[in-house]
Amino acid sequence: MLSCTGSLIWGGLLALAGLTAASPVATGPLPIAIRHTPSFPSSLEHRDYNTSSLSPVVPLPQTIQQDLATLLSPSALVLLPSSPSFTQYTHRWSLNTHTNSPSYGVIVIPASERDVSLTIQYANAHSIPFLATTGTHGTWQGLSQLQGGMAIWTRNLTKMEFAADGHSATLGGGLRGNDVIPALWARGKQTTTGSCRCVSLLGPALGGGHGWLQGQYGLGADQILSARVVLANGTAVKTSNTENSDLFWALRGAGHNFGVVTEVEYKLYDAVRPEWTYQSFTFTQDRLEEVYRVHNTVMRNQSPYVVYWSLWRLVPEVDPVNPILVSTVYYNGPVSEAAAYFAPFAALSPLQTTPVQTTDYPGLAAAAQFRVTDWACQPKAGATVYGMDVDSYDVKGLRKSYNAFRDMMRAEPALSLSMAYLEGYSLQAVQAVPYESTAFALRDRKLLYGFLVTYEETERNKTLDAQAQKWGEKIRDAAYGDKVKQKSVYVNYAKGSESLQAMYGYEGWRQERLKMLKRKYDPKGKFSFYAPIKA
Ligand SMILES: Cc1cc2nc3c(=O)[nH]c(=O)nc-3n(C[C@H](O)[C@H](O)[C@H](O)COP(=O)(O)OP(=O)(O)OC[C@H]3O[C@@H](n4cnc5c(N)ncnc54)[C@H](O)[C@@H]3O)c2cc1C
Repeated sequence: MLSCTGSLIWGGLLALAGLTAASPVATGPLPIAIRHTPSFPSSLEHRDYNTSSLSPVVPLPQTIQQDLATLLSPSALVLLPSSPSFTQYTHRWSLNTHTNSPSYGVIVIPASERDVSLTIQYANAHSIPFLATTGTHGTWQGLSQLQGGMAIWTRNLTKMEFAADGHSATLGGGLRGNDVIPALWARGKQTTTGSCRCVSLLGPALGGGHGWLQGQYGLGADQILSARVVLANGTAVKTSNTENSDLFWALRGAGHNFGVVTEVEYKLYDAVRPEWTYQSFTFTQDRLEEVYRVHNTVMRNQSPYVVYWSLWRLVPEVDPVNPILVSTVYYNGPVSEAAAYFAPFAALSPLQTTPVQTTDYPGLAAAAQFRVTDWACQPKAGATVYGMDVDSYDVKGLRKSYNAFRDMMRAEPALSLSMAYLEGYSLQAVQAVPYESTAFALRDRKLLYGFLVTYEETERNKTLDAQAQKWGEKIRDAAYGDKVKQKSVYVNYAKGSESLQAMYGYEGWRQERLKMLKRKYDPKGKFSFYAPIKA
């Protein structure tokens, strides 16, 4: 098991952040102490590592804090780098401003949709670039293009209102999986959210949104019945299949491009199958070909109730040089039924097999070590996801990819915490949604790979970034194998070197439609720091 050292730090910060947001400081203007350094070098090479020490590269109005405090509701907060709680809101999952982390000259914490509208109008009037920030897990490299701009920190948009018929809820744009999952469960409900508790509800869903329940209910995006969005010009609109339906189409797959979503009407389901059963199987690297052939076989008739995950990681106690392979089968049903899904992996005589365990939907986060306090959710000095979507495991390609993954750790031990996540969710309900009906274009891809290249050292971050980049691309390229003609990548696992076609689909009509909608709703490219569509 990987170390969870420091796991309490992030949770503690969030608790503190909540306290601060409610403090009386919010109600009045604060002294201005913003530093203007327009000559700050714009080259990536010269950026400071520590986000809190960056001077703003965007010249902000001297009166920004008073201006916004006057405009916004009393519960909103406007923080400058000199504000005591500023750095609590700059923390991100990947902290590296050289690669994929923005820095801010001002952080606005809206308390309402109106606050979001007024903030965007103010930013536009003063040419201040802005970025909505919720779960802080985005790792697109363009995020680091925002230096010294404005964060619109949405996490206080926490509305949760349940429809009387129990089939939907209105959920605020600032909620995370960690907020939504337990609240629904307490009502006997569940829905598709990200598998990791720390990501937001909407960061994933606006790009598609993969999770444990997608085989039964569809993607996160498929749960959105309507959405309220503040557009690039600050106007708030409702979108659904009947209102602004063109925008509604785009939001579900390319949504980071079109506005700040303040709330969604989201589908809910009765938790009629409360029990999950799971078992993990550990293999040494020499079994790779056998293991992924079995994965390919079981995926051919994958039940909507089963998820096949596999990961690679270095566990020095087992093998100090070669990362191990761990395949876990999660079945939404009782032990008596699950055994059949475990059997093909057990038959391979793994190095280690965990006992069969059971949990419920909220408990899956602990089972997979995806709780907010687990290593996977903790901030990292540098972290980039090299993602890709494929139909099946190309075993030859995977071997080359694995060898590169292992060689990376030999060549640069500081990258030894890196992991490969090979995610095999089921697709029945995903494919039941008409392919043309949303901007999400990868409904036929059975496997989602995320090669997480990460390090904890901060002193050598520039050197390590270069190494991480080199190895990450090599590991990913190899995994595609020789047969894939059109590379695809889930937009939320993309990093910035992928084509628009790879993320949003190869069909000309998709690309044209997205460009047309970008011209219509965001002609000046205000929402361009994350997987941007070029109008
Ligand atoms: C540890 C980890 C686990 C992950 N697990 C999953 C998973 O289980 N399923 C999955 O599908 N993906 C997963 N992802 C990928 C995830 O979907 C993306 O990282 C996503 O961008 C995270 O959104 P966020 O709000 O957490 O991050 P942020 O960095 O806050 O936001 C990412 C982007 O979304 C935009 N955004 C956020 N909130 C809003 C809003 N309310 N309105 C408009 N735009 C908004 C931001 O402006 C930014 O462009 C995971 C990533 C990591 C690092």
